[in-house]
Amino acid sequence: MSKDRSEVLMEYLLTRGFVWPSFEIYRSMVEVGGFYDYGPLGVEVKRNIVEKWRRIFVYPYQDIIFEIETPIIMPEIVFQASGHLEHFTDYIVECMKCGRKYRADHLVEEELKKRGINIRTEGLSERDIEKLIIEHEIKCPQCGGELSKVYKFNLLFRTTIGPYSNNVGYIRPETAQGMFVTFPRIFDLAGRKLPFGVAQIGRVGRNEISPRQGLIRLREFSQMEIELFFDPKDPRCPFLDDVRDVKIRLTTEDEVKKAVKEGRDPTPMELTPREIVDRKIVPNEWMAFYMALAMTFMNELGIPVDHQYFLAKLPEERAHYAACAFDQMVLSERFGWIEVSGLAYRTDYDLSRHEKFSGRELRAERRLDRPVEIEVVRVYPNPQKIREVFRDKAREVMKLIAGLREEDARRLARGEKIRIGEYEITPELVFLKVERKKITKEKFVPHVVEPSFGIDRIVYVTLEHAFTLVDSDKILLRLPPDIAPIKVAVLPLVRREPLTSIGASIARELARRGLKVLYDDDGSIGSRYSRCDELGVPIAVTVDDRTVEDGTVTLRDRDTRIQIRAKISDIYSIVRSVIEEKRDLVNVGRELGLEVIERT
Ligand code: AMP
Repeated sequence: MSKDRSEVLMEYLLTRGFVWPSFEIYRSMVEVGGFYDYGPLGVEVKRNIVEKWRRIFVYPYQDIIFEIETPIIMPEIVFQASGHLEHFTDYIVECMKCGRKYRADHLVEEELKKRGINIRTEGLSERDIEKLIIEHEIKCPQCGGELSKVYKFNLLFRTTIGPYSNNVGYIRPETAQGMFVTFPRIFDLAGRKLPFGVAQIGRVGRNEISPRQGLIRLREFSQMEIELFFDPKDPRCPFLDDVRDVKIRLTTEDEVKKAVKEGRDPTPMELTPREIVDRKIVPNEWMAFYMALAMTFMNELGIPVDHQYFLAKLPEERAHYAACAFDQMVLSERFGWIEVSGLAYRTDYDLSRHEKFSGRELRAERRLDRPVEIEVVRVYPNPQKIREVFRDKAREVMKLIAGLREEDARRLARGEKIRIGEYEITPELVFLKVERKKITKEKFVPHVVEPSFGIDRIVYVTLEHAFTLVDSDKILLRLPPDIAPIKVAVLPLVRREPLTSIGASIARELARRGLKVLYDDDGSIGSRYSRCDELGVPIAVTVDDRTVEDGTVTLRDRDTRIQIRAKISDIYSIVRSVIEEKRDLVNVGRELGLEVIERT
């Protein structure tokens, strides 16, 4: 995209009410980058994208995928357990002269790019980045000042919960943790059977160091995530065959390593989900399955196959919880390749950590091939001792002891002390009984595959791909009809009775039936069609003099400008089949034997 075109797009998104920077009236006074508002049209596009995601990822698998909603603010212990307090950091560097702060890895990449040096900084240590700064004599791009040492900056937004300053909470940086900590309840709802998954759509916060790329890097944004829990001894996905024909473009870890060495971009290859599993590019079928759904999702948003691929993350580039990970990359004309979703094999990392920190068992059971005899340790609280030690917290401690994990019970039996959250439990506080028992099932911590989508980036790439300039200056927003913010326009040919009142009543009726409608009787019909094209309205209904005579209207297709003539009473069902069933308007008209008018 030439500079002009991307500027036209940005201007368009701002002025037509898709998105704009938040707190605009205060922007000159405070640094509040990385926050965007969605205007009326943006809200609709975002909602439609979310609904499409549900239709691809949740609804077809509703017997095993359950959508929930959990809080945005979570107590500190959740992020101690999840590892975010320790690991959720980026590198920061400060100008010693003007005090400006930069994300160190991005600064190095950008400054070196200006000098024609392409380098990948992902996965480098702070010392490596510092070395690059010194070696290439990188200075503050604003004032030319010397840069400080590189240090880590935690991206969690911190707050306090209630009036106690020591009750620390954080805004979640991913919706995922809400799904892990509620595992026991949702697992019960799922009938304690694997595989099953939890889906969540919601806002998250990341205190990004210097966000400058509009919707691509925000400090508050929305995610759509699934945590799919499965038995690591049975990593089969029962739906893999449903997606067997989807071609997945990806780069393997080996190819990425080679490309890094040779200083080039990795070359994607095209494989089916089954081939990806058979070649052991991914460690389980679920990863391949979610790659296929993610590609389908992007295709349905209008992103062509050659504008997307999955990029394997090397071990040093992966998040702390991932044993295998891929980023789904989409080509943006403005920003280059950007990550729109991350697919991670989180193993049993999160549930095991939450088990450890909460003292609650977060396990499933699998049947054994043959029964085995094992030793079980039963633990009963010693109320008197517990009251002596814990006083007003005694009841809580007794409850925790009653739900103790087997592993902790065994440690107590060995004479060790254990820690559950803030409490230290010693063997003196409990009565122990060791029994031998025949078991037919064993417990294990389920493993997790997680597809994680950033909605705002997806909104941006969808709009960018739909944005077309016709005859160099006319805007045509070719959004898929189910994503378009306004579904149908109603336009009386001229502003005159009874055309206007017929038009208004058609618009009212369509709106009453749940469609987003634009009624417009202002200006020439040509300029109104252009306005509809600019806003991406897939169908424009025109009321003319013939409508008064025979109760028919024209329905104009946005992309081909071909019109069909249909009865007023059929408008709704025709519009629905275009939007819901993704049918072509003209084909629907032909099938119904309607008049087709092929003129522009
Ligand atoms: P991650 O957990 O970092 O893999 O993020 C999951 C998804 O969230 C990414 O694929 C992005 O689409 C999105 N995302 C991450 N960080 C941001 C951000 N700062 N602004 C907007 N979207 C983001």
